[in-house]
Amino acid sequence: MADCDLLIIGAGISGLSMAHYATTAGLKVRVLEREDRVGGCLHSHRFGGELDGFWLELGAHSAFNSYGNLLAILEQIGLLSRLQRRARVRFRMVANGVVKSIPSQLYFPALALAPFRLLGLIKTGRTVAEYYGHIVGQRNYTAVFGPAFDAVICQPASAFPADSLFQPRPRRKDIPRGFSLPGGLQTIADTLAAQTGIAIEFGQRVREIRRQERGFTVRSDQAEYQARALCLATPVAVAAELLRKPFPDIAERLAEIDTAEVESLGVALPTAQVSLPPIAGLIGREEPFYSVVSRDTVPDAHWRGLTFHFRPGVLNKEERLERIAQILGVTRTLLGPERVVYTRNQLPALRVGHGERAEELDQALLGNRLALTGNYFSGIAIEDCVTRSRAEFERLRSEGL
Ligand SMILES: Cc1cc2nc3c(=O)[nH]c(=O)nc-3n(C[C@H](O)[C@H](O)[C@H](O)COP(=O)(O)OP(=O)(O)OC[C@H]3O[C@@H](n4cnc5c(N)ncnc54)[C@H](O)[C@@H]3O)c2cc1C
Repeated sequence: MADCDLLIIGAGISGLSMAHYATTAGLKVRVLEREDRVGGCLHSHRFGGELDGFWLELGAHSAFNSYGNLLAILEQIGLLSRLQRRARVRFRMVANGVVKSIPSQLYFPALALAPFRLLGLIKTGRTVAEYYGHIVGQRNYTAVFGPAFDAVICQPASAFPADSLFQPRPRRKDIPRGFSLPGGLQTIADTLAAQTGIAIEFGQRVREIRRQERGFTVRSDQAEYQARALCLATPVAVAAELLRKPFPDIAERLAEIDTAEVESLGVALPTAQVSLPPIAGLIGREEPFYSVVSRDTVPDAHWRGLTFHFRPGVLNKEERLERIAQILGVTRTLLGPERVVYTRNQLPALRVGHGERAEELDQALLGNRLALTGNYFSGIAIEDCVTRSRAEFERLRSEGL
């Protein structure tokens, strides 16, 4: 006997948006989450002690008025009136070890030619380096655009497909262009998780999936669950491993998608002690980090928060803290353990030709009451995840769920 209509593995934005669509349609939904918190890459760390009430983003930091499916959900769960406009502060660069303005690093004669180089240029089938390098010129690409794209997707971006980096989407003029929420983007995950009808079980790392005549059996470390339909909303490598036995063809396709790791270190400091002017963030050029993302976009009267997104395996924790202290111009002793937080995340390292692989995956999924959602289809942005969940939910419905 199935104990729910739809079982979802993973409580990041992909799994939670899928749960939202399914409960709104009146289905009985259960979500299994490995960690003791929801959100996955939506991870606003909320401090206690001397920093009580202060938070910073360890993962995703920006949502935009072009995120139409996300905004529709925010409207339904009562969050639209609570959006906070991001303050207008600039990104800067760390070049040759020093914080500099971005324009100071650009070669303008080559940029002036960009509109002409764009004419007739096709994105599909080209890497980020090929497409944007051609438009802005190699010198600008190497000095600014390449490092900036690495910063955007927290991984080396040059071989990423150009058409998966930024998706053209209509903007909602009634919504701030870039926004956050009180408590950070984590509030989206928390509010979705608190919706009536969504049962989330924490600390349930799924180990095995078995196909049954009328659905699926899923086994975690502690329990076994039955469901009529199943949705995997985990990082792609986890989905590949879990589907290896019950769906070997799908698993094989998923295993072809590489994964990039990012190791993030967030620090909070008293405002008066940081000499660096307010910034949206820093782009690292030839630095151990891809980017630094700042809480200055949602300013706080007493504290500043900065999250450094490090390349995996480069520098140990102490060396990283020393580099952070240098960049911020503070003494290392200010970075005590209660002011430092750490996490790591996995992101898909998409490659040219990914679109065809995604289409093959969609074909293989048909008719199995098995859904796959996540950031490894059209792109890695939050909106890509929600859009995928919506499409997968509609497919499951059309298959009789
Ligand atoms: C540092 C960083 C910055 C980013 N910045 C932005 C940004 O500013 N704007 C933007 O739009 N996007 C941004 N992104 C991308 C976006 O945040 C992610 O692509 C998106 O949140 C991924 O959501 P997801 O639910 O697919 O996966 P995840 O968030 O990874 O969630 C997967 C969930 O599955 C759980 N899980 C894994 N294995 C198991 C298992 N075996 N059993 C049970 N549960 C399991 C995990 O614990 C996790 O909770 C950023 C990503 C990162 C890492």
